[in-house]
Amino acid sequence: MPAAVHVSSHPLIRHNLARLRAADTRPPEFRDLVAALARGLFFEATRDVPVRPVAVRTPLVEAACEEIAVRIGLVPVLRAGLGMAEAMLRALPEASVWHLGLYRDHATLKPVTYYNKLPAKPDMDLALVLDPMLATGGSAIAAIDILKRHGIGRVKFVGLIAAPEGRDALQAAHPDVPIHLAALDDHLNELGYIVPGLGDAGDRQFGTA
Ligand code: URA
Repeated sequence: MPAAVHVSSHPLIRHNLARLRAADTRPPEFRDLVAALARGLFFEATRDVPVRPVAVRTPLVEAACEEIAVRIGLVPVLRAGLGMAEAMLRALPEASVWHLGLYRDHATLKPVTYYNKLPAKPDMDLALVLDPMLATGGSAIAAIDILKRHGIGRVKFVGLIAAPEGRDALQAAHPDVPIHLAALDDHLNELGYIVPGLGDAGDRQFGTA
C-alpha cells in the first residue's frame, strides 16, 4: 500500500485555492496566495514530526515547552517551488533549503536537471519536496530520486494541485512518500496542463506569461 495522499479540507485552503485558480488574479496576489497555501500545507505535512522538551524563560517564569527534534529540509523545485519555500521558511527559519532546478522539456514532457545545489553531506532528517503543480509527476520523481541518492531517508511531497496521472506516477515510483495537496484535479490536457488547474504556476507567480 502506498503512503497516503492528503488533500486538505481546511476552509482557508479551499478559499485561497479558489482565488489562486482565478484567471484574473495578478502576480502579487497570486504570490501571496501561494504563500498562504504553502504555509497551511506545511503545518499539515509536519503534523507528525517528533518534538522534545525545552525549558523557556518567559518574562514571568520558566515554562515547559517543546521544540522540533528533527532537521527539516525544504527542497523547492525551481522555479515554481520558490514561493512555497519562502513561506515555509518564515514559519521555520532554521529549516535548510536545497534548490533543485528541473524543467519540463515541452516536446518530451520529461524532466531535465539544470541546477542541483545539494551539499555533499545531507543535513536533514525529513525533506519536503515542493512543487505547486504535480502534473505528469516527472519532476517530483526525479527530485526524490536525487534526494534518495544523497542519503535522505524520509521524504514528503507538498504541492498545491495534482493531476491523477501525476499522483499515480509518483506513488508508483516512490510508494514510501506521502503526498500533501490543496486539491486533486480532474486530468492533464494534451499540452500537459492540469485541468481545471490554474495555468502555469511559474509564469503566474513571476508575471512571465
Ligand atoms: N505546470 C504548471 O505550472 N501548470 C500545469 O498545469 C502543469 C504543470
